[in-house]
Amino acid sequence: MEDACFLRSATRPEEFPPGSVAEVAFLGRSNVGKSSLINALAGRPRLAYISSTPGRTRSINFYRVGGKVIFVDLPGYGYAQVSKAEAARWKHLIEAYLLHRRELALCILLLDIRRGWMEKDLELRHWLEFHKRRHVVAVTKIDKVKNQTELRRGLEAIRRQAPDVELAPFSALTGQGVRELWQTIWKNVKAP
Ligand code: GDP
Repeated sequence: MEDACFLRSATRPEEFPPGSVAEVAFLGRSNVGKSSLINALAGRPRLAYISSTPGRTRSINFYRVGGKVIFVDLPGYGYAQVSKAEAARWKHLIEAYLLHRRELALCILLLDIRRGWMEKDLELRHWLEFHKRRHVVAVTKIDKVKNQTELRRGLEAIRRQAPDVELAPFSALTGQGVRELWQTIWKNVKAP
């Protein structure tokens, strides 16, 4: 497993750490399983905070994972109770990172297998496409579907709305897909 540690938390662009190695950003609705996926990839059960209260993760968190990559945990979106002003502030912070960060090599957009694309996810994907940010979709919680048929249907439904996007089925619970997602990451992160 990679050696992993928390590097920094930023609530303003000025607080982003100086760029060093390639960065992989994780984006998704609250509760989609983002913290669990980051922890599973890093092999560290408590690296990213798994919140039972949606809305706890309001900053961009940077984690060093091994010597060659930094994971960037972007604040989850789609919280019902958040004010317009707060939502605008997050958008500004996330866009500041996604638009200008030179080290950003890959965005991993997370979708729950049982929910697929929701409006905010599609908006984000179009935005990434428009700004030519390389991205893949991690399909989370695949242990929650009843059988292979349901899994296949779920993946097909997701693929229908985004035929060109690479899908990485994933379960933090069983560890399914961890190795494949790492392969996808290395494929997109240039070797130094
Ligand atoms: P985040 O809000 O996107 O960071 O989501 P979390 O990682 O905190 O997960 C939200 C909830 O989903 C928690 O109760 C997790 O235990 C659960 N969860 C996350 N990933 C999985 C998974 O792969 N399988 C199952 N069954 N539950 C998961």
